[in-house]
Amino acid sequence: MNLDDLPIRDDLKGRKPYGAPQIDVPVRLNTNENPYPPSKALVDDLAEEVRRSAAELNRYPDRDATELRARLADYLGHDLTPDRLWAANGSNEVLQQILQAFGGPGRTAIGFEPSYAMHPMISTGTATEWIGGVREADFSLDPDKAVAAVEEHRPAIVFLTSPNNPTGTALPLETIEAVANATDGMVVVDEAYAEFARTGTPSALTLLPSHPRLIVTRTMSKAFAMAGTRLGYLAAHPAVVEALLLVRLPYHLSTLTQTAALVALRHRRELLGTVDALRQERDATVEWLRGKGLEVADSDANFVLFGRFPDRRAVWEKLLANGVLIREVGPPEWLRVSIGTGEEMAAFRAAMEEVL
Ligand code: PMP
Repeated sequence: MNLDDLPIRDDLKGRKPYGAPQIDVPVRLNTNENPYPPSKALVDDLAEEVRRSAAELNRYPDRDATELRARLADYLGHDLTPDRLWAANGSNEVLQQILQAFGGPGRTAIGFEPSYAMHPMISTGTATEWIGGVREADFSLDPDKAVAAVEEHRPAIVFLTSPNNPTGTALPLETIEAVANATDGMVVVDEAYAEFARTGTPSALTLLPSHPRLIVTRTMSKAFAMAGTRLGYLAAHPAVVEALLLVRLPYHLSTLTQTAALVALRHRRELLGTVDALRQERDATVEWLRGKGLEVADSDANFVLFGRFPDRRAVWEKLLANGVLIREVGPPEWLRVSIGTGEEMAAFRAAMEEVL
C-alpha cells in the first residue's frame, strides 16, 4: 500500500512534506541555526536542572507554563506581562495554534512571497485556504499593494515575516501598521530572526498596545542557539492567549522543555553573545558575494539570499561535494546560505571560489 491508497483528506493529496535535507557534512549552513554550541557551564547547569525536574516526571508539566511565560515577558520587555505571552514547541507550533484558533475551513490566510514555506503548509494542514501575495523585485513589500491585497481577499490571518525568510528583508513599522489598519482579521508578525536585525530596525512589539489583533511570534531556535529545545513563543493581547487555550493540547510543553527554556533564558547573556559576531559575519558575507559580482539581498537575519544561477541545483551540488550544505530555496535562481562560524564561512567562500 502507498499514500495514495489511504483515505487521506482531498486537500492533502499530492502534497510534499517540509524537507530541508538533514545531511551529515562538515559545514551545515542550511537551516539558519546558530552555529555556536552551548558552553560547558550552560550544559552543566542544564543537566542539573533536568536532574531536578526528572524527579517529578511522574506528574504532568505546568499546563500553562506559568514561570516560563513570566521569564519570557521579562526577556522581551516592552512592559509585557505573562498573560500576554504564550509558548509552544517551536514557533511552528505557535503558528499552528494561531491557525487552529483563527483559521480553518472557509477562512483564508495571506502571506507575501517568497516567504517562509511553513506558513502555507500550516495553513493547508489546518484547512485554511492560502493566498500568496507578492513582493517587489528587491523583496521589499509595497505597503499600498499589501493593503490592497488584504482589502481584496479579507483574510482571517495576515502573515508578515520580519526579517523575512528566505530573503532577510525587514519590514518598516509603517507597513505593518498600514496592513493592521486595513484588516479586521489577525496579523501575525513572524519575528523568528528579530535579534539579528541591523541596529535601528524596530520590533513589532512596539505596536502591540495600539493593535489588539496583532501577534508577534519569536523563537529560541535562531539567535538563542536552542533549536534542539523546540521552544517558540508569542506576545499578544491576553484575549489572544485565551483563544489559543481553546485549541492547544493539554500539557503540550513538556517539563523538560520548560526546564531547558528557563535555563536558556537564565544564560541569555552567553547565548545571545554570539549575535554580534554573526551579524558581522553576515555583513561580510554580503560584501564578499557582491564583490564576486553576484546579486545579494540585503539581510537583517542570520542568512543571505544570493544569485542568480540559471542552474542553482548544480551550484548547490558542487558546494555539497565540497562539504558545504546550503539551501536550495526561494526564487528559482537564488540560493540561501545560513551564517556559520568564521571557519565555516571561510569554507563556504573557498567552495564558492571553486564554483565561480
Ligand atoms: N518562522 C520563520 C520565519 C522561520 O524561518 C522558522 C524556522 N525556519 C520558524 C518560524 C520556525 O522555527 P521554530 O519552529 O524552530 O521556532
